[in-house]
Amino acid sequence: MDFRTERARLVALLSGEIKDRKVLAALARIPREAFVPPELRCRAYYDRALPIGRGQTISQPLIVAMMTQALTLTGQEKVLEIGTGSGYQTALLAELATRVVTVERVAELAERSRQLLRRLGYANIDFHPAAETLGWPDSAPYDAIIVTAAAPRVPDELLAQLAPGGRIVIPVGTRYLQELHKITKHTDHYDTEYLGACRFVALIGKSAWEEQEV
Ligand code: SAH
Repeated sequence: MDFRTERARLVALLSGEIKDRKVLAALARIPREAFVPPELRCRAYYDRALPIGRGQTISQPLIVAMMTQALTLTGQEKVLEIGTGSGYQTALLAELATRVVTVERVAELAERSRQLLRRLGYANIDFHPAAETLGWPDSAPYDAIIVTAAAPRVPDELLAQLAPGGRIVIPVGTRYLQELHKITKHTDHYDTEYLGACRFVALIGKSAWEEQEV
């Protein structure tokens, strides 16, 4: 299969919605086929989420692009990602920011992504296992935070890890349907914008959901 042609076709499709040229150019450089299980490679360039094992998914390319565009990265930022998963979103952030700190609670997925991203040549990513407190406070503050799992509310501990002027993009809602929130931290208040409906797997943790809840 000619993945390059398929990738170019997907990026052309996304350019109908996504206007940030840097995001589109970065998407055109990342081989999504390497981030999906071998048996699903033929569907790597459908604009769809796909299963990656352990009940998790690689997000839909349009949502990945929308969330990244909303972070308004200039190339100077330190970015925190919650939910490494396949590492595809991580690669996009690594293309567009100075440093990416990514946290994942499933060790098997984290290790697979770490190896893949190293093999692809990314050297500006720090990988961490999920701990009791959401995110990775030791490397805070962050210019941007992206949460790629659904949260019941915006977690205070993530707002605390955001630098002044920083923004967080996070799906907030029920376990089955969420609305993408973009929150910007100002010195004395937060601004919230709503970017549309989405559907993510659950964020697991103290200020989110328990693993076994259905
Ligand atoms: N951006 C990823 C999305 C993976 S799905 C991709 O496109 O491939 C969401 C991921 O969040 C899952 O891998 C899940 O294990 C992880 N996750 C859930 N709760 C978490 C938490 N509290 N901390 C870190 N990762 C978490």
